[in-house]
Order: sequence, then C-alpha cells, then structure tokens
Amino acid sequence: MNSRIDWRAVRAALGDVPVLDRPAVVRQRSRDFYWYSPLLRRALDGCCAELVAQPRSEAELAQCLSVAYTYRVPIVLRGGGTGNYGQAVPLEGGMIIETLGLDQVAEIGPGMVRVAAGCKIGALNAALRATGAELPIFPSTQDMATIGGFIAGGSAGIGSLRHGMLRDPGNIIALTALSVETTPRRHTFRGAATELLHHAWGINGAIVELTLRTAPLGDWMQTITSFETYGAAFAAGATLGARTDLRCKLVTTLDARIVPYFNRLREYMGADRAVMLGMIERADVPAYRQLMDVLGGRVEFVMDDAQREAEHLPHVFEFSYNHTTAQVLKVDKSATYLQVLVAAPLDAGRIVALQRLLGDDVLMHHEFSRLDGQLVAFDIPIVHYRSDERLAEIMACYEAEGFPVSNPHTYIIEDGGMKRANYRHLALKRELDPRGLLNSGKSREWARVRHLDPAAIRALEG
Ligand SMILES: Cc1cc2nc3c(=O)[nH]c(=O)nc-3n(C[C@H](O)[C@H](O)[C@H](O)COP(=O)(O)OP(=O)(O)OC[C@H]3O[C@@H](n4cnc5c(N)ncnc54)[C@H](O)[C@@H]3O)c2cc1C
Repeated sequence: MNSRIDWRAVRAALGDVPVLDRPAVVRQRSRDFYWYSPLLRRALDGCCAELVAQPRSEAELAQCLSVAYTYRVPIVLRGGGTGNYGQAVPLEGGMIIETLGLDQVAEIGPGMVRVAAGCKIGALNAALRATGAELPIFPSTQDMATIGGFIAGGSAGIGSLRHGMLRDPGNIIALTALSVETTPRRHTFRGAATELLHHAWGINGAIVELTLRTAPLGDWMQTITSFETYGAAFAAGATLGARTDLRCKLVTTLDARIVPYFNRLREYMGADRAVMLGMIERADVPAYRQLMDVLGGRVEFVMDDAQREAEHLPHVFEFSYNHTTAQVLKVDKSATYLQVLVAAPLDAGRIVALQRLLGDDVLMHHEFSRLDGQLVAFDIPIVHYRSDERLAEIMACYEAEGFPVSNPHTYIIEDGGMKRANYRHLALKRELDPRGLLNSGKSREWARVRHLDPAAIRALEG
C-alpha cells in the first residue's frame, strides 16, 4: 500500500463510483501488453496499483480525478490495456481509472462520429457499419481496445495505407479532455490542436470524448497471396501500395520463416513461401489478381467476412501489425519485435540485403502505409531475443543501414518513437495536471520542467 495516501478517505470520497480492490484483479488491471518485450517484462512486472475505479459516466470520471487531486493519488487512465510499451502500467502505485463505462456513441453524422472515450473500437465500427460508414484507421486489437486508448496511445493501423497516420489533418476532428483539479474542467481541442493530447500516453489530460472522421463503408475482401521470395513479396507490396486506383485497406508482407508459427490460416499460405495479406475492395479483386499474376504472386485465399466466418477462420488482420508478434509468441516465448521505418522511396533490394545481413535472428514483416503523403513501410520484424546486447546490436544495424528505429522496449515516452521531449504535451500537462498525477514516471523530461509555467515549457519546443 502507498502509505502516504489516506486510502480510507479516498474510498469514502469516491462514494458510489464502483471500485475493484481484490489484489489479483488489481494486478491484472495493472498490466498491458508490455510483456512482448523481455526488457519491459524485467522493468515492469512488479508494478501494481492499489485500487481500480470504474466510473460509469463523465461525472463519475470527474469525481475520480477530483479525489485523486485532493489526496495526491497517482492515476493511470486505462481503456482496454492493449498498449505495448507499458503505457497503462502504474509506476507509482495509486489508482487506475478504467474508462470502459464511458462507451456511448453520441452522434453519427455525414463523415463523422462523436463518441465517448471508453467505447471499444469494434463496437464503434459495428455502430458505424449499420449506417454505411467505418473508421478510416483502426488497430488490429479493436475487440479489446478503446477509441480513447487508441487516440492516446496509438498512431496508425489498418487503413493507414489509404488514410495515413491518425495525426494527419482531418482524422481527429475534435477531442475533449478533463483536467485533474478540485473541480475538473472540460477542455475541447479542435483540428491541429488535438495533437496536444494525441499519442501523449494519457500524461496530460483525461480524454472523455472524441469526434473522428469516418469513411464510407468498404466491401472488403480478405486476401492471402504467396511469393517465392521475401524480396518479391515486398516489391509486390510496394507496387500494390502505390496503385491508388486499387482500393486496399491493408497490405502486409511476412517472411516465409514466420508462417510456420501460425496455427491458423497457415494452410492458405503455401509451403516455404513469403506471404502478402490484404484487404481489397471486392470490385478491385479481378485487377488485384491480374497484378499479382504479373508480379509473381500466387493468390491463395480470397474471402469476404461471411465466407470466412462460415469456415470458422480468423480475419487476416489478426496476423498483421503487432498481431504477427502475438501469433508467434503463442508458440515461441523467446520472440519479441522492433518498430522500424522504411522511408520512401521503397526499394526491395535494400530489404533483401538487410534480410541477409540480419540472418536468422530477425524475420521480416512490413506494413505498407502512408506517412506525410508518401508510401512507406512500417517494419515490425520478429526478433529472436538472445540478450539485451544482441537486441541493441540489431537496432544499431537497422540504424546504420538507414532504417530509423522507434524503440518499443522502453516505457519512457521520450525514448520511444518520439526520440525527443514534446514540450507542447508537457506544457499542457502543467495546465491540466498541475500536480503531475497522470501516468507519473512515464516522461523523464517532466521532472525537469514541472516547476516552470506552461509558457516557459512551451518555449523549450524551439
Ligand atoms: C496485438 C497488438 C496489436 C496492436 N496493433 C496496433 C496497431 O495496429 N496500431 C496501433 O497504433 N497500436 C496497436 N497496438 C497498440 C494498442 O493496441 C493500441 O494503441 C490500442 O488502440 C490501445 O487502446 P487501449 O484502449 O487498449 O489503450 P490502453 O492500453 O488502455 O491505453 C493506452 C494509453 O492511453 C492512455 N489512455 C487510455 N484511455 C485514455 C483516456 N480516456 N484519456 C487519456 N489517456 C488514455 C493510457 O493511460 C495509456 O497510456 C497493438 C497492440 C497489440 C497488443
């Protein structure tokens, strides 16, 4: 127990807000998917909150924040707990505030949806589907993850090939967050200002509502195509990704050495062949088949959702993004992963050279996507973990070859994808979370700037 906190008073002040305090349950809610990293396992396995609050409304969430402020309780907002960097792990005990009770889809209009932060993404997509719309970008974890967690913790996903990054103009229309003070206040950010909380890991405000762009519902066919070599698969991914006349929501390429780890869909992937997974608009499938034929691909599987469900098969996206790592981990506990950028222009020759250089410890996996309008590939290789030193050597090798790494083996926000402090995030934290209670310990730079006023922190951005 965090002995400096008067837990009896905290619980009394929480009043009717449901709480969980059974140690096993609190321990379970104190974890996310950081365990994909052996380094984070070592660092975070012992971290645990003392209490989990489960507000059922924005008013109850505000009450939790007010109580935390009054009694100086460290707090972590938690959606589905599917983050990979320990973002939802409490480093200093305290209280987890689970948002799943705030799940209302408030408004669906032309090209937009307004939704409470705790709504699960799968449920949101289902509500949109009924109106002929869908989220342009969603993570492969949509059944567990919340929309608030995705905006606070995520960056891209299925759909990024067509719609770019979450941060791209128009994807997040507006965002409302509560401050942590005696009487929490609502702050609404619009357009580019939403970046002040997007991908800030919940360190600078409790997001309660989001207005997001929607896209017309696609008639997506799931495809699997196999290739003789990884170079051919990657080159085909790059060619397909560049064909904006063919509507694709997902293009994933996988090393032949990954396929044997899959215990489902494997029979559609060919023996000892590299694989491309796709989501292609039904009307474009004939053109897709033609293109694959020209590029040396063998189309192994084309199904819509109804056919796939009738065959009791999983969705192809359950083998994409970090689900690839999840599938391998089911079989091989020594597996981990990296996050690397393959910038434009894409060149399969460089990938083949890299594959040779990295040898048997690294298995190739790329997600084709648009970054700042250009076709890129997010490289999420499977890495057989040998030691911290070997992992560092592999990262250094990527960097030396000109492929920037976003280190996923750290829980410090400045050491991961951002690679530097985001002073606009921290200035807002100073305003909305003056006692520094939200997700404490995740920003190293916060300790240095917390005594400055917001304008002085913002000025450090340069
Ligand atoms: C197998 C697998 C595949 C994945 N694929 C993708 C992918 O394709 N793209 C991608 O971007 N990510 C991906 N992720 C990471 C993660 O699933 C997503 O970012 C996801 O959307 C997080 O949602 P969540 O509700 O689980 O968030 P959580 O894990 O609960 O929280 C994530 C972060 O957001 C904060 N947070 C949560 N709710 C709020 C709120 N209301 N206000 C403020 N802060 C809040 C938390 O404190 C935490 O820092 C994947 C993870 C796994 C395990």
